[in-house]
Amino acid sequence: MLNKDQLLEPLMSQLVTPAFVLDANGKVLIWNKACERLTNVKADQVLGTNRHWQAFYDHKRDCLADLLVNGNVDKLKALYSYHSDNNHFGVHAQNWCQIPNVPGHFYLAVDAGAIYNEKGKLIAVVETIRDITEQKLAQENLNRLMQDHVTPTFALDADGEVLIWNRACEQLTNCKAENMIGTKNHWQAFYDEKRDCLADLLLKNDTDKIAELYSLQIDDAVNEHRLRVENWCQIPKVPGHFYLAIDAAPIYNEAGDLVAVVESLRNMTEAKLAQEKLERLAQYDGLTGLANRRSFDQRLQGDWNLAERNQTPISLLFIDIDCFKQFNDIYGHQTGDNCLKAVASVISGQCFRPSDLSARYGGEEFTIILPNTDKNGAQVIAERVRKAVFDLHWEHSGNTAADYVTISIGIGTCIPSTGQTVDTLIKMADESVYKAKEQGRNRIY
Ligand code: GH3
Ligand code: MG
Ligand code: MG
Repeated sequence: MLNKDQLLEPLMSQLVTPAFVLDANGKVLIWNKACERLTNVKADQVLGTNRHWQAFYDHKRDCLADLLVNGNVDKLKALYSYHSDNNHFGVHAQNWCQIPNVPGHFYLAVDAGAIYNEKGKLIAVVETIRDITEQKLAQENLNRLMQDHVTPTFALDADGEVLIWNRACEQLTNCKAENMIGTKNHWQAFYDEKRDCLADLLLKNDTDKIAELYSLQIDDAVNEHRLRVENWCQIPKVPGHFYLAIDAAPIYNEAGDLVAVVESLRNMTEAKLAQEKLERLAQYDGLTGLANRRSFDQRLQGDWNLAERNQTPISLLFIDIDCFKQFNDIYGHQTGDNCLKAVASVISGQCFRPSDLSARYGGEEFTIILPNTDKNGAQVIAERVRKAVFDLHWEHSGNTAADYVTISIGIGTCIPSTGQTVDTLIKMADESVYKAKEQGRNRIY
């Protein structure tokens, strides 16, 4: 029969991780080969003694295993620079160490776990030690590098925990580094509801989700491993909306393993608002607020193409204010402008379908694009618009058609066929207005 207890010692000694075992009195029971290599202290120098501390420190102090043997876990904070005692194995701590028999400084991660007998009595404590000096130095370097970086930046380790949260990131989010580091709560700085940040997506290689979570993704021609996006963001602890340009880049160690992801954020709100304003200006007419000639041209071509493909009718109304030169002459240009605004507002108010577009074509001429609308439909809408303008009852003593401001409307309608272009439709509508004028104005042709 194989005795499990007989396995412990050979198992421990073969373990590649440096480890030692103390008995209930704090005497060394096992000191494995990896521990000999790490400390340059042989097993026979410490076995059966409680001098194991000499392998790690040049002055007498407790090792992590001693704290468990003696039930002194409260000393953790005083003895180690980092610790967590909610580890499933037992306690975890990290410290810089000057191993007496080995030159240099080591940053060691140590875990200690107690072994109990059936009666619940502690019989031994196992301590395992990992040399994570290289990671620690890399992290400290990175930290120094990022801390004073003017760009808001944070970094996640390979497990998705916050490693770095620089001052600029504190300023942007109004969240302190001390509340972020070591947690996975970085999303709280940017969003009200739990969701992935760009760094998380990069870490999980979940780039399919980018389109769903960000409004814009920018291809990075220089570095294909880096992700670049832009998004509107409502930072929970800061009032207002922010348009952020976000970069996430992976950091690999010499072995090629991903060790961290760095995310940096630039506040582009001002530039974005200016850009949006420009885009609006480029699309709308300044006086009336209707779509301008440029957006009219674009929309008409698009709607024409659609009508051609689907072989559906498309109608175009050309609207021209009657005797408007006279109006300006009598009431002045300023009143003329006000009248143009009022007429524009009536026209856009009579376009009910979302696909209809009213635009200022130029001067005192307006137009309405009516996709999917035949001649009869167009006539109904044209009459509605004509009547609504008339019903303004805006005095115009120089108008030959009425005592009020009136409009003449020309309709063009067709189902696009070969040889026809948008210009065909524009010409139809234009010629129709001319006819409406000829026939006495304040009418539709
Ligand atoms: P018709 O009934 O034949 O259309 O006569 P009309 O006087 O309206 O036509 P015409 O093309 O001779 O004159 C159009 C006038 O519209 C000329 C111009 O003074 C006026 N107009 C054009 N753009 C504006 C504008 O932005 N503001 C003002 N106040 N008037 C404008
Ligand atoms: Mg005109
Ligand atoms: Mg006119």
